Amino acid sequence: METPTVVTFVTIYVDPMRLAPLLLLTMVILLSCQRPQLKPEPAQYSVPVEIEPYVQHFRDEFKKRGQTPTTNNLIITFGATQGSDVCGQCLLESGKTPRIIINTNGVCWRDANGYERECLVFHELGHCLLNRGHRNSRFPNNAYVSLMNTNDWDIFGPCTYPVGNDECDKRPRRDYYLDELADSTTSAPIWAK
Ligand SMILES: [Zn+2]
Repeated sequence: METPTVVTFVTIYVDPMRLAPLLLLTMVILLSCQRPQLKPEPAQYSVPVEIEPYVQHFRDEFKKRGQTPTTNNLIITFGATQGSDVCGQCLLESGKTPRIIINTNGVCWRDANGYERECLVFHELGHCLLNRGHRNSRFPNNAYVSLMNTNDWDIFGPCTYPVGNDECDKRPRRDYYLDELADSTTSAPIWAK
């Protein structure tokens, strides 16, 4: 026996004039959904040979502290920053590789010692890879709380002009500043009193 197939056609009458705004709205929604999304740039890595050791220090120091920030998507160049007195700049754009520009001028790089260069590179990596902002607070002894301060790169450097006081050689402070970079809730060190 053949089962009868039942097909029902339903016709709903809608006044086309009343439908128009609805159609338009649907099109707008569809168009906005289909707007081509900006494809994220593929991960790329380009760091000048002179700066690479500092990026490696950054990886090593974070590893020691049980953290592994992503460092394989990064572009660093020597070049002109927004102002001649700006030593470094981090450009962060969504979907794009973080870009750091280091100013080669004397104070910023050419005449700076290794500790100051390291501090500058870490500061920019703090912006670009850790999303850290600036932190300009100071301890009771007037030392900056963070290497994310905006004024001073010479916060854990050796004595440039020995004047015989204990605070001239600030290299022992480096560990604290890296702890603070990895965890901004790090408590104040003994030397900060
Ligand atoms: Zn900064």
